[in-house]
Amino acid sequence: MKSVKPRVRFAPSPTGYLHVGGARTALFNYLFARNQGGDFLLRIEDTDRERSSGDMTNQILDAMQWLGLEVDEPPVHQAYGIERHRADAERLLAGGRAWRCFATQDELAEIRTRLREEGRPLRRSELPGHGGAETAERLAAGEPHALFYSVPDGSTTFDDIVHGPTTVEHAHMDDFVVLRSDGTPVYNLAVVSDDIDMGITHVLRGDDHLSNTPKQILIYEALGAMLPIFGHLPMILGADGKRLSKRHGAASVEAFREEGILPEALVNFLALLGWSPGDDREVMDLPELVEAFSLDRILKKSSVFDPEKLEWLNGRHLQRKSAERLAPVLLELLPGIERERAEAEPERLRAVTDLVKTRARTVESMASQARPFFTPLDRIEYDEKAARKHWKHADETTERLAAVRDVLAGLDDFDHDLLEERLRAAASELGIGAGKLFQPLRLALMGSAESPGIFDVIALLGRERSLERIDRALETLAEGRAGSPDEGPEATSRESAGPSE
Ligand code: GLU
Repeated sequence: MKSVKPRVRFAPSPTGYLHVGGARTALFNYLFARNQGGDFLLRIEDTDRERSSGDMTNQILDAMQWLGLEVDEPPVHQAYGIERHRADAERLLAGGRAWRCFATQDELAEIRTRLREEGRPLRRSELPGHGGAETAERLAAGEPHALFYSVPDGSTTFDDIVHGPTTVEHAHMDDFVVLRSDGTPVYNLAVVSDDIDMGITHVLRGDDHLSNTPKQILIYEALGAMLPIFGHLPMILGADGKRLSKRHGAASVEAFREEGILPEALVNFLALLGWSPGDDREVMDLPELVEAFSLDRILKKSSVFDPEKLEWLNGRHLQRKSAERLAPVLLELLPGIERERAEAEPERLRAVTDLVKTRARTVESMASQARPFFTPLDRIEYDEKAARKHWKHADETTERLAAVRDVLAGLDDFDHDLLEERLRAAASELGIGAGKLFQPLRLALMGSAESPGIFDVIALLGRERSLERIDRALETLAEGRAGSPDEGPEATSRESAGPSE
């Protein structure tokens, strides 16, 4: 049999931001389409006029673009298909697969309650005044009515990609609305009508839609269309075992983007929520995921959203990115004066980016580590707590910093290894452990006791800047005014603490 090129779609309702669950559905569809050389389409399900908004549609498009999930055709707007939805409902009617329901909501609710108690499904025969001549009369009188799908006897079975063969007995399925009395189509009809129209071959969506699938299959059959293959993705849970929601913290693509998560990291993370490459790889970018993706490794079990893992992946993707690509992102996050100076020294910015990216998990933490490299001399403020600890005895500190100053002033080459050798030698000459020299020095150079490795810091600051910063620290110590009670430098995150030296 000739294999058909897969065509899949992501079909969000534009009633809110693109959340983790939706983004994961979009991603799995995208990965499958790309892996199979198929098409990935987007359908905006905006039939609910009151809850849908153009703004949200734009947010969704924007979030998908940011994630790199490019679509192959212009997005389809479900609302534009309403005439076709109605025509399909009429076809169901003409083929004897639907009936006109004149009952009011209240009448229906009452009948439904009674039938539920009796353990029987809703059928037209249960409605008084429906059928044959009565229906014709009411129709002629112009009574408003909805169209209901007429569920046949028997059962529906489908082989879900994730959940395996699934059977639903029709005896447990009510006849269901396809067209409301105001002429608007119901979700199940609109989706099927659109999926047929778009030539969708595989429907991959969240398993909250599992119960809709038998109804949709019945509509496909009644319309004489080929069935797509269905796959329902397992739920995403928060750490407390409940379905992931805003209560668990950031849950939208937008929010992660604002938190400094890279699109590569979010895509990687989402891919591993309910799927695995079948080997021990974890850090993968979009092309690698495309290459490795296959539907048969989608897990049946719900997956738990682990923010720690997302941060970890973010760190790994930061390391994979070149300084050229990261530097502009970092620049954006620097405050005005530091940004200006960094912009004027692109070489140094790249080198600083390379240094800080190896130890950061977010771009924010990269920026806070990079910032002191570009702070103008007269704006350096010394972290009070660190000053109390590492500059406790002004005389002793002065002696140590002066010793470092001598070493640096005598060096032409600010090479990492050479600096290490000379400064360690200076510490032994003073008869102190290296840390006792390097922590006060770190504070003098960076204004805080946390920074990348001290030799890297000195090498990157360069001779002139290192010396003038030490001089300023010496002056501050002489005046006894270390620490700035008003505004200390922004707290650096734990991961930026210097390595043991
Ligand atoms: N619009 C539906 C939703 O937002 C998806 C429908 C589908 O994928 O069939 O959940």
